[in-house]
Amino acid sequence: LMQLFRPLDMLGMVYRTVRQGLIDMAAMFRLIDTEAEVRDIPNAPALIVRRPTLQFDNVVFGYEPDRTILHGLSFEVPAGRHVAIVGPSGAGKSTIGRLLFRFYDPQAGRILIDGQDIAKVTQVSLREAIGIVPQDSVLFNDTIGYNIAYGRDGATREEVEAAARAAAIMPLIERLPEGFETEVGERGLKLSGGEKQRVAIARTLVKDPPIVLLDEATSALDSRTEQEILRTLHRVSEHRTTLAIAHRLSTIADADHILVLDQGRLAESGTHPELLRVGGLYAEMWARQQAEAEQLGEAAE
Ligand code: ATP
Repeated sequence: LMQLFRPLDMLGMVYRTVRQGLIDMAAMFRLIDTEAEVRDIPNAPALIVRRPTLQFDNVVFGYEPDRTILHGLSFEVPAGRHVAIVGPSGAGKSTIGRLLFRFYDPQAGRILIDGQDIAKVTQVSLREAIGIVPQDSVLFNDTIGYNIAYGRDGATREEVEAAARAAAIMPLIERLPEGFETEVGERGLKLSGGEKQRVAIARTLVKDPPIVLLDEATSALDSRTEQEILRTLHRVSEHRTTLAIAHRLSTIADADHILVLDQGRLAESGTHPELLRVGGLYAEMWARQQAEAEQLGEAAE
């Protein structure tokens, strides 16, 4: 009987109709609330990405008219580079991700991908070009295979398997009696946070987008898990233009470039060693997190 009712599952109906790329965002940005904010301009062309460069050009943005969150922010991620955004809580890091996906339009300034203003191309083509690995992935009530294959219409079994391997989720799948056919989500197998993130990584590998947005974990993982996740995250960002939103610093020390955001303004930027040398906000945050990590380590002993 449950089988008969399955097609009526509300969430099921929603996610099957929502276009690829959107649902990832729904998980991260609670799309439902923001969906109506932006519209495609009439006859908008599709975004065409030849060189996946990403540019914020003097972007001014606030959720409410009387409170500006980003005050004329400019930065660039060259094609294939890995840029991380760090900064205190509330600095506007996640807001940058929301604007990149065009859940909102800036009040002034432009966001460009390969020289094209993202406000002037179709949202579908924009979201096809960007993969996202959210810190807290939501899985659909379906099989683990579906959850990975969903990255791209028409993904083959081989592609799904290769992605699962690269995302280090294959050992888990091989242990399950029903393998890829195992139901996960609310009514199925519950996966840990790290396992869910690996499914999201596999999904992104299947999608194979030129640009990747990583929303890195807020909470501390044990260092072995963190190292494992980092290794797989590296696979997703390899050869792709990557913007990493980092709530902790330990995960982004090897980024090509780090932007330090403070109250919606770029306070500092550079590589990890450069920023440590400057001895400013970044160095301060780094010292604080190192001290916290040491305390945690001592507490665990
Ligand atoms: P954290 O590291 O704590 O996640 P963040 O740097 O990612 O912080 P944002 O989530 O970008 O910060 O938020 C920046 C500011 O915008 C905050 O002051 C927040 O209160 C405000 N803000 C975020 N989302 C909304 C919203 N939907 N409506 C109104 N204000 C919002």
